Amino acid sequence: MVRTSFGAALDPSKCTASSEYWRGNRRFYLNGEASQEGCFTSPWFKGSHPVMLSYGRTVAPWYASHVHHGVDVDMPEGTPVRSGVAGTVHVRPSTMGASYGSKRLLVRSDGRDHVIGHLGELAVADGQRVQPGDLLGRSGTNGCEQQDGPHLHFEVRPSGTGYQSAVDPWESLRMSRA
Ligand SMILES: [Zn+2]
Repeated sequence: MVRTSFGAALDPSKCTASSEYWRGNRRFYLNGEASQEGCFTSPWFKGSHPVMLSYGRTVAPWYASHVHHGVDVDMPEGTPVRSGVAGTVHVRPSTMGASYGSKRLLVRSDGRDHVIGHLGELAVADGQRVQPGDLLGRSGTNGCEQQDGPHLHFEVRPSGTGYQSAVDPWESLRMSRA
């Protein structure tokens, strides 16, 4: 079991295997797959961070009956978030939906939209071409519901579609243990 307080610096040694994840007194949920337990790094973000909520979960602290369309990765505010692909940035596109914060964006690449939610700072402009490793922005709490704390919401959909079409983004995150 992992317990951290909101925004606290993470101690990778606390990324122990568990299918549940705690932030303060709030319980988040993994899919019960050992592959999603522990701390990870990814081409999409810097550092070592635990997953707090898996794709497809229908239980979370702030809702009981919806499906989570992405993967939430716990990270302190200000963590650099980078593009994992070569593509075109779309800032606040109409297809994205409003529940990802005012600094929401997606990176369109190869028929896929990589949705990045809850950034606190944007480092790119609408229409900008990015390469792998380019800084998109910094993590934050923008649009996070009910104080669930700073995290990155990462989602993948076929280009131009809404959240209802989201697919499991795990492969696209290209996580490795860290
Ligand atoms: Zn999320």
